[in-house]
Amino acid sequence: MTLSGKTAIVTGSNSGIGLGVARELAKAGADVVLNSFTDRDEDHALAAEIAAETSTNTRYIKADMSKGDECRALIETAGACDILVNNAGIQHVSPIDQFPVDKWDAIIAINMSSTFHTTAAALPMMRSAGWGRIVNIASAHGLTASPFKSAYVAAKHGVVGMTKSVALETAREPITCNAICPGYVLTPLVEAQIPDTMKEYNMSREDVIKNVMLERQPSKEFATVEQLGGTAIFLCSDAAAQITGTTISVDGGWTAL
Ligand code: NAD
Repeated sequence: MTLSGKTAIVTGSNSGIGLGVARELAKAGADVVLNSFTDRDEDHALAAEIAAETSTNTRYIKADMSKGDECRALIETAGACDILVNNAGIQHVSPIDQFPVDKWDAIIAINMSSTFHTTAAALPMMRSAGWGRIVNIASAHGLTASPFKSAYVAAKHGVVGMTKSVALETAREPITCNAICPGYVLTPLVEAQIPDTMKEYNMSREDVIKNVMLERQPSKEFATVEQLGGTAIFLCSDAAAQITGTTISVDGGWTAL
């Protein structure tokens, strides 16, 4: 399928799943807006590399997804938004009675409230273009819970709920809104939580991967960023035009347990 002529904005896309999804969207022909909160030469170089590889007008726009006005400014600066992938996210692992308040606030802002702000700013553009796709990268933790991840689980359940509301608000329009719920994908975000989880469970790195992370994933394999990109492309296709307000799990069977 071709997404040529479409502008796709992927929040939090200079790394991990966002970058993988951005690459797949550009390969399908979309002009992609990469984003993160940094403004380094390498961020712009990454976008230029994807643009050159895919012959698309892919670029990078800095915006901090922890700030509502910057979320909205990202969409306005892009100037068009046919496909919105809300992906930016952070994690912190801690028992709730010791959970740092600043971490709680940051996780709720980046993982959940950013989706509210970008969606609110993008919908008028989708409506005037007569087509739109909103793809929220939630998590298996948007459908189930784990200990020590109260803020993340709350934010991701919030994103799944918001997905349903937005789908109902746009149900009579050629716009869909869905959430992809990945299980574990070996990205920098997952790498970063291995040391804390080792501490919480008093386990080695290998045991955390095998007995904590992939213990929940019956396939015993990490999902890949390419598979998540492919799922996003499917949600942008005509075959998915009647799929709205739902979740697609890419979790090796986690939520079937
Ligand atoms: P990652 O750390 O590799 O990527 C996170 C991205 O968000 C980065 O590009 C980072 O720069 C960006 N980001 C962080 N704070 C930001 C901010 N304030 N403003 C703008 N951008 C910001 O992590 P990832 O694993 O690729 O995670 C991407 C999304 O996928 C997250 O929402 C995460 O919750 C979700 N997810 C990941 C997994 C997994 O196993 N990796 C599983 C389920 C869901």
